[in-house]
Amino acid sequence: MDLLIRNGTVIDPSTRVERRADILIIDGKVAVIEEGIAPGSGVDVIDATGMLVAPGLVDMHVHLRDPGQTHKEDITSGTLAAVRGGFTAVACMPNTAPPIDHPTVVEYVKSRARAASCRVFPIAAITKGQVGKELSPIAALAGAGAVALSDDGVSVADAGLLRRAMSYASMFDLPIIEHCEDLAISAGGVMHEGSWSTVLGLRGIPAVSEEAIVARDLLLAEETGARLHVAHVSTAGSVRLIREAKRRGVRVTAEVTPHHLALTDEAVQGFDANVKMNPPLRSATDVEAMCEALIDGTIDAIATDHAPHAPEEKSVEFDAAPFGIVGLETALGVAWTVLVHSGLLSPVEALRKMSAVPATILNIPGGGLRPGESADLVVIDPERRWTVDPASFASKSRNTPFQGRTLTGKAVITLVGGVIKHDELTDDGVRGSGLGVRETMQVGDTVVE
Ligand SMILES: [Zn+2]
Ligand SMILES: [Zn+2]
Repeated sequence: MDLLIRNGTVIDPSTRVERRADILIIDGKVAVIEEGIAPGSGVDVIDATGMLVAPGLVDMHVHLRDPGQTHKEDITSGTLAAVRGGFTAVACMPNTAPPIDHPTVVEYVKSRARAASCRVFPIAAITKGQVGKELSPIAALAGAGAVALSDDGVSVADAGLLRRAMSYASMFDLPIIEHCEDLAISAGGVMHEGSWSTVLGLRGIPAVSEEAIVARDLLLAEETGARLHVAHVSTAGSVRLIREAKRRGVRVTAEVTPHHLALTDEAVQGFDANVKMNPPLRSATDVEAMCEALIDGTIDAIATDHAPHAPEEKSVEFDAAPFGIVGLETALGVAWTVLVHSGLLSPVEALRKMSAVPATILNIPGGGLRPGESADLVVIDPERRWTVDPASFASKSRNTPFQGRTLTGKAVITLVGGVIKHDELTDDGVRGSGLGVRETMQVGDTVVE
């Protein structure tokens, strides 16, 4: 079905162009972007007055739990959660069961992804079984379609092995994505080590457990010339190290999660396991440093680290609960509320960090709006106020720290390949051809959350 999205503010983060325009979609591809396109017959019309129309969001760090832990999430539910959140592409981490450390598992993910709601790009393990002893078959994994390498969940503890992995990864231009944590320093910790961990009597995870590995990995990337991507940066010290490395030309990129920007370790005082994640929520000083790093480009991308866990796994005492929270369905709202409405980032910059930049890091399509490209788009209502209700999530899991929070900004339509995968503007099913019925509707007033 051909589609015309009219009267929106069209944002192309790849070129930083923002303008009033219509977008005509024919055969699943962007055909024309210009003002005042007349709808031809048989073209469905969406009135995007007051809305932003942008390339679909790209999440470079999600855990889809498939294969092996599909009671938490699977590729179907995880990608449904993704399109609800405005994402049209996700890259999934390899800590599945079995892990994505063999081309057959890459193939499995790709085959399941064919029926998924959005595009899925597998990240393969750096080491076999992610146990840090032996390198995965990197050439074969690259050949099968892995877009990056990571042992996320842990760092590669053996620096010699990581150095070899970096050398191999460079041959295929694959980034190495590191979860930076020195387990010898963090072992047994459940929250950020600081005044709150002392007050609450919980074992801390010191900032230096992250920074020590960031420093080591930056040196290895500098020496090997490999592309290093630091996952979920959480401390001011990591920011300082990455900023300094970028200045001297190290090929490093970095991401931060929405929750590490929106919350501090103070949130742990309720002992809610839904604020337990790794890296942990840090201090207000760390949050401030990461916001500055987003503004000056030290931190390149925003990624969710969507980490579903079943309710029975999280409904235990804080110490015993697993690390991780879901993020796909709240990321845009949290980012818009914390970064855009606060004036820290412009809409274009926020969208760059959630689409064009991660797509570039992973060398996958996305983040731009050009005629001829697949119509992977999101329509955002930047002023929509909504309250997070985990019961309404498409994800199989509910582990969010944002339950009950009112956010401003929401993905209201998501298109993948020109097909509507998520639609909150036209939930009443009204769908006309030509000058459609929707043109007379007051966009934003018609939807009940
Ligand atoms: Zn991690
Ligand atoms: Zn992760």
